[in-house]
Amino acid sequence: MAKRDYYEVLGVSRNSGPDEIKKAFRQLALQYHPDRNPGDKSAEEKFKELNEAYSVLSDPQKREQYDTFGPAGPAGQGFGGSDFGFGGVEDILNDFFGFGTIFGGGRQRSRRGADLRYNLELKFEEAVFGTEKEVVIPRTAACPECGGSGAKKGTRPERCAACNGRGQVASQQGFFTISRPCGRCRGTGQVIKEHCPKCAGGGTVRESRPLKVKIPAGVDNGTRLKLRGEGEAGQSGGPPGDLYVVVSAREHPFFARDGEHLLCEVPITFSQAALGDEIEVPTLTGKRKLTIPPGTQSGQDFVMKGEGVAVLNGHRRGNLVIRVIIDVPKKLTKRQKELLLEFQEISSESPGPISRSFFEKVKEIFG
Ligand SMILES: [Zn+2]
Ligand SMILES: [Zn+2]
Repeated sequence: MAKRDYYEVLGVSRNSGPDEIKKAFRQLALQYHPDRNPGDKSAEEKFKELNEAYSVLSDPQKREQYDTFGPAGPAGQGFGGSDFGFGGVEDILNDFFGFGTIFGGGRQRSRRGADLRYNLELKFEEAVFGTEKEVVIPRTAACPECGGSGAKKGTRPERCAACNGRGQVASQQGFFTISRPCGRCRGTGQVIKEHCPKCAGGGTVRESRPLKVKIPAGVDNGTRLKLRGEGEAGQSGGPPGDLYVVVSAREHPFFARDGEHLLCEVPITFSQAALGDEIEVPTLTGKRKLTIPPGTQSGQDFVMKGEGVAVLNGHRRGNLVIRVIIDVPKKLTKRQKELLLEFQEISSESPGPISRSFFEKVKEIFG
């Protein structure tokens, strides 16, 4: 099988220094890490290729041999990926992933469980005021019978005699000491004599345990709540992953939300706007009186401070903006029409402020 040039794989030049190689590997490994690309075979292949390239180019001795002999390696043995053991690679990944990663070679270390995501739709009020929700999330959990060891109750996994608990067996081949995962214990260093009947020795079971999630007041579309340790169970004694509850909030019939602020459009009549009035407006906590001054324009905003939504994890509340919209009647009675025509006749000499300034501007421009 033709192998890509290791320098090409990492996208570095032949005379790159160790730091440059490390940096290139980090960037690419982050991008193609299996945990970030679950189920993506091509990413997995790419990730393996990266590991292989890095395991050779990060080792001065191996790099020298690679530069001298090419990809075939000394004596045509190649630089076959998994046989190298990925101690260095694992360490560098631990640096920035913060958890152990399993590679083809080397002993299986404990592994952190995967994170889970749960989309939770809330009613408008639930998001605004906060609530407690029970969610049922299918996930893997440590087997309650064996506590995750996989061994039958009352027994324990024993140290693998074939590898003396190391998980690897080593042999000398040419230049290299080649370590392979132990076939007997599959790299775990332990063998289970009697499997736990509940989990068949896997140490984990699927469960759908209901979970109470406290939703704080003020969450909004896209708010992510992290529930530490409520993700998938870890493997081989690793810690569980986290659960991320991602919130979406339904719309309200007349409150529009803009973060911590609320907007409510309230219709008023032309005469209320012109004469002024006291109207009732809805707030989150019930109806309130709002004074509309004479000469109010359509679209004018009235800010009710502190009547908005609680600021998430804060002590403040946003504002409620009441926007008044002049509701023009579509049907008029005969009497209404008479009065309005009369009103119009006597109004042409005294237009409103908006008309006045608009027509003045038109005059300025068109003469
Ligand atoms: Zn079990
Ligand atoms: Zn073994």
